[in-house]
Amino acid sequence: MSFTLHGIPVSSGIAIGYVHLISHTVLEVVHYVMPRNLVHEEIARFDAAMESTRQELAELRNYRPLHAAAEFDAFLDLHLMILADEHIDLASRKMIEHEQCNAEWALKIQMDALVAQFEEFDDAYLRERKTDVVQVVERVLNKLTGQPGHQPSAVVPDMKMILVAHDISPADLIQLKSHHFAAILTDLGGATSHTAIMARGLSTPCVVGLHRARQLMRENDLLIVDGGQGVVIVNPDEQVLVEYKLLQNQWEEARNKLKCLKSTPAVTLDGTTIELHANIELPNDLAEVYENGATGIGLFRSEFLFLNRDVLPDEEEQFAAYRAVAEGMEGLPVTIRTFDLGADKQLNGAQRVASNPALGLRAIRLCLAEPQMFLTQLRALLRASSYGNVKILIPMLTSVSEINQTLQFIVDAKQSLDNEGIPYNREIQIGGMIEIPAAALVLDVFIKKLDFLSIGTNDLIQYTLAIDRTDDEVAHLYDPLHPAILYLLSHVISSANKAGIPVSVCGEMAGKVIFTRLLLGLGLRQFSMNSAQLLRVKQCVLTTSLPDIVTLKQRILRAKDPLKIRELVEKLNIA
Ligand code: PEP
Ligand code: MG
Repeated sequence: MSFTLHGIPVSSGIAIGYVHLISHTVLEVVHYVMPRNLVHEEIARFDAAMESTRQELAELRNYRPLHAAAEFDAFLDLHLMILADEHIDLASRKMIEHEQCNAEWALKIQMDALVAQFEEFDDAYLRERKTDVVQVVERVLNKLTGQPGHQPSAVVPDMKMILVAHDISPADLIQLKSHHFAAILTDLGGATSHTAIMARGLSTPCVVGLHRARQLMRENDLLIVDGGQGVVIVNPDEQVLVEYKLLQNQWEEARNKLKCLKSTPAVTLDGTTIELHANIELPNDLAEVYENGATGIGLFRSEFLFLNRDVLPDEEEQFAAYRAVAEGMEGLPVTIRTFDLGADKQLNGAQRVASNPALGLRAIRLCLAEPQMFLTQLRALLRASSYGNVKILIPMLTSVSEINQTLQFIVDAKQSLDNEGIPYNREIQIGGMIEIPAAALVLDVFIKKLDFLSIGTNDLIQYTLAIDRTDDEVAHLYDPLHPAILYLLSHVISSANKAGIPVSVCGEMAGKVIFTRLLLGLGLRQFSMNSAQLLRVKQCVLTTSLPDIVTLKQRILRAKDPLKIRELVEKLNIA
């Protein structure tokens, strides 16, 4: 039966492919009792699933990421140990035998008991290993239920697969990145969650906030995904399929045409040069940066180097990553943000998850609370500054005391390098993200103490409007055109321009072509976005005359009614 679902559009493009469900099988285990004469068969089924899981884990070694071979091996060894643990293996077999229950149920009960034991540990690292127990059991359950697993080895690398999940963390998406899914769909999530941002960076059509997609779809259902409209058609009929294939071709054609703009300088019709920089998560994102002709890296989200691993990257590993990007950009600016961990980007084994993590120990707050970790990163960044045009960007600053403490850390890191005779760029520029309303409201102090500013609209909107950017229930209220946001943007951009300090926008607004003219009108001359969005924005820059948009921009800033603002922005875009 064909039906259509509507969600939040995250990443444009049309994909046609087959459902690949990523499930939390442990949540869906059923319980049944069987006749005594079938118990033997059930134990054999259990043994076969255990053996197949053992083999799968062994095979996974061939898929390990090269840069994290040691950690990956340790992780696999741990999972093999859990699999062999008597609480999982022996105890489940005994339970099937004595209680005549199904294998899935026995495994789930034993898993719960083992997880409860892990929760008793005082040591945070050991306590967190309960997650590994659940992952291992989920793998066995997938074998029992005939579901394909969601670890990399079990995914067939096929452009026609569409990943459907209840939710995916940014860390999970990194692992799945190399599998080139044709589209990504999730039940939860908002348009500026980090998972959504990554999907956009992959140029993969993506729709989030679909609520019950995973429940309503079956493995291998045929899907059409229109990422730009947030529409998903399940099991479409032949005529709809033909129409969307046509649309897909047109979309691809338009995208290919944009490629000829790659080397064209981004200059407005009246001759103003605009810098279009790229946001990256990892050094190997550079390929897309070159492909789309970015003139710099405006935001390297360095925290992605820290995800999916139990042992954090040391100074040498970080230095190698930062240096690779600095050298790769051959003198163009490379703005590296110090790690913004916390909120939806947690370290493996994070000791506690606050009740409001986005308001908790995140970004610079965490850096200042973990001096050793921060100093290690600062040393690595400073060392990399000898190999290119590296700038350091500090996320989530709120107050002057945080700025002062941060600058003192940088002085200390420089001093420690001096003591060891290690070179670095002594003039390295330090910038601050403006992503908390308080920072925008006391901007003078930021302008005085820092070399440049970068507006993080994703968080600025989240914190100004009190909308959790990852929560699909309030996603409809997340409004970049709210008058309060426009006021703050206008204030920050014009104050920075007046003071002669560079300012950019590196949040998702910078990559959305519907906001390009508005931002240009507000005085923005530097944008940083996912590489995949860059050429569309450039096309808009090339067709904009700044003097022609001044009046409409002023009317937009004066308007207070959201509908009126939208109408004026639409006018601006067709002017
Ligand atoms: C932002 O908040 O706009 C930003 C660019 O940072 P992140 O999305 O990584 O929080
Ligand atoms: Mg942010």
